[in-house]
Amino acid sequence: MKTIGLIGGMSWESTADYYRYINQGVNRRLGGLHSAKCMLYSCDFEEVVRLQKAGAWGEAAALLADAARKLEAGGCDAILICTNTMHVVAGEVQQAVGIPLLNIVDATADRVKTNGLRKVGLLGTLYTMEHGFYTDRLREQGLDAIVPGEVDRLRVHEVIFNELCKGELNPDSKSDFMRIVERLRERGAEGVILGCTEIPLLLKQGDVDVPLFDTTLIHAEAAVSFALS
Ligand code: GLU
Repeated sequence: MKTIGLIGGMSWESTADYYRYINQGVNRRLGGLHSAKCMLYSCDFEEVVRLQKAGAWGEAAALLADAARKLEAGGCDAILICTNTMHVVAGEVQQAVGIPLLNIVDATADRVKTNGLRKVGLLGTLYTMEHGFYTDRLREQGLDAIVPGEVDRLRVHEVIFNELCKGELNPDSKSDFMRIVERLRERGAEGVILGCTEIPLLLKQGDVDVPLFDTTLIHAEAAVSFALS
């Protein structure tokens, strides 16, 4: 089994799910008392958020690149950045190490295509929905990605940082997310990517009539496949 290096803590609420999913996935495949070989570098999220707000993406890249190097030196065989947003610096992090970075956008695009969908909605932070690194990469893989309107984008962003990253699950926010997903469906989305690793804590498949793509689970499953390949 290969060892997975997790750059987490962004936020730790979803990193906890990564750890659970990766261990469950390995155990499902190998049985017995098998569990995943992995190492976690958990960031102080406040530091990361300050860099995001300042638009200091170079410094953010250096921070995550340093974490990736430490995981590589510790013996990891691959790196996961356990957040969609920080894939904005995935290229720089990959360049810092000689082991592969398993990209969350690629894993998600593969899953969407396996399900036979072509046009998808994307929910995430404002960075993920607006900065192009995510939608462009989906488009390069033949997918048409649409994002909510401005008011809805801001609402999603605020719920992520003010509630979900603090472990708060608010029923009003859930209702708003359901309405936002419905509006994406009305605009032709055949499925919706939960492109923030905390959104699946709030919104579940049973809540809406359109297929949801849980990026935390999809990314964790990609890690399991790599570890056991
Ligand atoms: N975990 C979230 C994501 O998947 C947001 C936190 C962050 O800004 O990294 O994008």
